Amino acid sequence: MLGTNGVNLLYLITIVCFVLALRFLSSPATARRGNWIGAVGMAVAIVTTLIKAGVHITWEMPVAAAIGSVFGAVGARRVKMTAMPQMVALFNGVGGGAAALVAIAEFHELAPDPGRIHGDVSLAVLLSALIGSISFSGSLVAFAKLQELIQGRPIVYPGQKIGNALLFAACLVLGAAVLAGSERQSLLWAMVAGALLFGVLFVVPIGGADMPVVISLLNAFTGLAAAATGFELSNNVLIVSGMLVGASGTMLTLLMGRAMNRSITNVLFGAFGQVSAGGAAAAGADGTVRSTTADDVAVMLAYAKKVVVVPGYGMAVAQAQHDVRTLADILEEKGVEVTYAIHPVAGRMPGHMNVLLAEANVPYPQLKEMDEANAEFGRTDVSLVIGANDVVNPDARNNTGSPIYGMPILNVDQSQATVVLKRSMNPGFAGIDNPLFVDPKTVMLFGDAKESVIKLAARVKSL
Ligand code: NDP
Repeated sequence: MLGTNGVNLLYLITIVCFVLALRFLSSPATARRGNWIGAVGMAVAIVTTLIKAGVHITWEMPVAAAIGSVFGAVGARRVKMTAMPQMVALFNGVGGGAAALVAIAEFHELAPDPGRIHGDVSLAVLLSALIGSISFSGSLVAFAKLQELIQGRPIVYPGQKIGNALLFAACLVLGAAVLAGSERQSLLWAMVAGALLFGVLFVVPIGGADMPVVISLLNAFTGLAAAATGFELSNNVLIVSGMLVGASGTMLTLLMGRAMNRSITNVLFGAFGQVSAGGAAAAGADGTVRSTTADDVAVMLAYAKKVVVVPGYGMAVAQAQHDVRTLADILEEKGVEVTYAIHPVAGRMPGHMNVLLAEANVPYPQLKEMDEANAEFGRTDVSLVIGANDVVNPDARNNTGSPIYGMPILNVDQSQATVVLKRSMNPGFAGIDNPLFVDPKTVMLFGDAKESVIKLAARVKSL
């Protein structure tokens, strides 16, 4: 029905949609538009592929698509913002699993005809089966860890790294045998089983603070697996979209690694367990904790020239973003300059704080990335830390023995005064003490962040 040119034109439109979607997704102001453009591109790609392949549509197809769409839509609508990383891990795993399944089906299709599988095709089949399987099982373990279905702490045992390396080498040997011309499907199945096991063993020693990097890395893997599937099926749009996912996932991994002070080599081959959250030794923070009241903080804020809001995971838990915006508006009416300092791994997913603050219509120019924000703390009167902990822990800068030593942080301790809003002295995600809380310039306003911010807004208004 559609000639080759027609198909290629529609695929080109799809690719342009995906590239534009990524472009728009890079700013909270245009992210919704980006999402829609990406969805339209995906719809065009699916319909074009069905027409191109001359697929006879049987009743199972729309039913399967409807079931998948309902799961996706309901899941995405219902998921709490704080559970988004798990959701990403799950969806990513399903993508990797799909790539592996297509590879197995393709091999099954081609194998009975001896000599028919050319090296380039079997290489593509092997890569999508290998990478897709690792991504599938690794993502499921990441999901289970974040969802607390299994222990989130690193599971470390003797000989772990060498065992993992041997297992991966065994997968490569099996793959090489297929590539060398063996069309025994049992070899491919054995490689897939090994890759599934490797995915599990690769993620279990990773805990806490490294998890977002790993999810992003697995996301890049899924992209590569999809691109390999594209070569296998001679489908250009799959090759391009897979590479887009692979490249953006790799870039995000590198950026997050840098934000958490983890090099990619270290993430891949380093001792996850020794640096990760949960199992980390507390860095010890001796000193006096100064608890304060909303009245006192309101006075500090109302008479400040410049206030920097530092949001963290606790603001997301308390869903305090709208009240934070209200407080900022009241302060601005009183002539106080208010900005927001955003750490790249504040919260539980990249961009978590940006999304929440965008939801509360905080003007984008007020959001300052880490470097820009750090340049301003020296002339800040009050840093208002709302449910952030690890991302403002000065041990990352000063204490070489700290598990998070070297992680770039927001230097709130350089401001004239710091107010920390949290419920208790409990640690954050990394499970370590925070000397900021006993800094002589810091006061603690204990309580749920939303309730505290509402009180502060009311008190500041009445001043
Ligand atoms: P943290 O997890 O370090 O700290 C959050 C703090 O919020 C806790 O100390 C908690 O203290 C407080 N809190 C929780 N609920 C409330 C509430 N209702 N009201 C007030 N306070 C509350 O968060 P950060 O944002 O500082 O750091 C993020 C951490 O998560 C980093 O270690 C990062 O590496 C990791 N991570 C980041 C991901 C990302 O991509 N952004 C993904 C996964 C992990 P209390 O219980 O006393 O109230």
